[in-house]
Amino acid sequence: MSAYDENNIFAKILKGEIPCDKVYEDENVLAFKDIAPQAPVHILVIPKGQYISIMDFGVKASPEEIKGFFEVVNKIVEEQGLKNEGFRSIANTGLNGGQEVPHFHLHILGGRQIGPMVSQ
Ligand code: 5GP
Repeated sequence: MSAYDENNIFAKILKGEIPCDKVYEDENVLAFKDIAPQAPVHILVIPKGQYISIMDFGVKASPEEIKGFFEVVNKIVEEQGLKNEGFRSIANTGLNGGQEVPHFHLHILGGRQIGPMVSQ
């Protein structure tokens, strides 16, 4: 796996160089609205650590970071009113996964039926 790109767009958001529409922040996690929402609710949850992908995060992050990350996912789902009707979470990974930003992020999409899992 290649090295973490410290100038990727989410790294710049974390450094405060680019603004974001923040919905949650703590010591290890930041969550903000996707700039091009694909659903009424489209939030990106990212760890503050330099992890390229979900695999990188799963292997290199501490148990506290991993647990904290998913606790934030729960919190956002509840706060956004997605718990009862459901939502989709997506972690695009690498070339075939269509990952555009090489900093691990979980998409949370909801507020309507999201549709088929994979188009085409
Ligand atoms: P990926 O394709 O890597 O899974 O998703 C990257 C996501 O980041 C896309 O949904 C895209 O709209 C979003 N995105 C790209 N640049 C920015 C930005 O500067 N700010 C925000 N809030 N979202 C961004």
